[in-house]
Amino acid sequence: MKKLVSLILTVALMSTCINAQAQRYPRFKVLAFYNKHVERAHVEFADDAIKFFKGLTIGNGFVFDTTSRMSDLTDEKIKDYQLLMMINDFPHSNEQRKAFEKYMETGGGWLGFHVAAYNDRTTNWPWFVNFLGGGVFNRNSWPPLPAKLVVDDNKHPVTKALPSTFIAPLNEWYQWKPSPRENKKVKVLASLSVDNYPLGLKDILPDGDTPVVWTNTDYRMIYLNMGHGDNIFSDATQNKLIIDAFRWVVGADKKAIHLKNSIMTQATTPSGRVFSIDIMRGITLCLMLLVNDLFEPGVPSWMVHTKAETDGMGLADWVFPGFLFMAGLSIPYAMAARQKKEIPGSGCYCMCYFERLAYSS
Ligand code: ZN
Repeated sequence: MKKLVSLILTVALMSTCINAQAQRYPRFKVLAFYNKHVERAHVEFADDAIKFFKGLTIGNGFVFDTTSRMSDLTDEKIKDYQLLMMINDFPHSNEQRKAFEKYMETGGGWLGFHVAAYNDRTTNWPWFVNFLGGGVFNRNSWPPLPAKLVVDDNKHPVTKALPSTFIAPLNEWYQWKPSPRENKKVKVLASLSVDNYPLGLKDILPDGDTPVVWTNTDYRMIYLNMGHGDNIFSDATQNKLIIDAFRWVVGADKKAIHLKNSIMTQATTPSGRVFSIDIMRGITLCLMLLVNDLFEPGVPSWMVHTKAETDGMGLADWVFPGFLFMAGLSIPYAMAARQKKEIPGSGCYCMCYFERLAYSS
């Protein structure tokens, strides 16, 4: 009888979890545009960025789609996405620009990196210049170098967790004219410290105001100047800034289910492991080892299996269902991690299945 009760409870608990997940899934959808045929350092950044954001989807219930075709920027294609990410490119044709303008003017979200905000005298897209806060690309530093950044607003959700200054990994830094800070609609969140000047060797930023992260408060958008080379995601502080910028743009969408209560706020390691699951698994495994040795005379009755005629459950009665629950909960994570490592379809599921078998034996 008690085994039946355990089984029913376990199944009920698991189906509740699966149901709750299914109702909330996906929390939101992101479409990231990137270009494979641009300068090498920008492609390297795109590869890293895609890996980084795909890693964040594990356990967070959001969809991260990518495309290297800017022609996908159409009303029809983007209407279901809560965030468009421009990793190393920007809209080119008139049709793409019109679709982007319409999307942003009707509450769409944008997270742009580095060259995504590039515009010069030949761009001929006044709407975009205004969207970015009025700045036109003026000059850059070269070669890529680390730089000291100053947090301009330590109250804003994107930057409030950051120290007042930090060293950002090497990047090619852009300066804009006029500085977006001169626009009252713009909130600058981080900028280059004047301590960096003169910054660069071949191309030098000698002075001036250089906002690096900002938002135009008329739109749901954040621009981050980082995005050159394969070192961008090498610094925990900067990663925090990037994640918080991403969270903020999504969270500002009134239509989307917010990230507030997401697992994203739980402690995870850089590899994406979820501590709470690891700890729970450890506890159930330890208890499994323990209960097998518990049947010694003298141990308290609540620690062992209750007798068949007793209406109740002991610790030992709970351990195996607990173990099953943890194994079941781990399966989607294991599959997602396998997919992240790009082990193709059926092989992935077979591997996960055998891993579960190995784990259970
Ligand atoms: Zn660059």
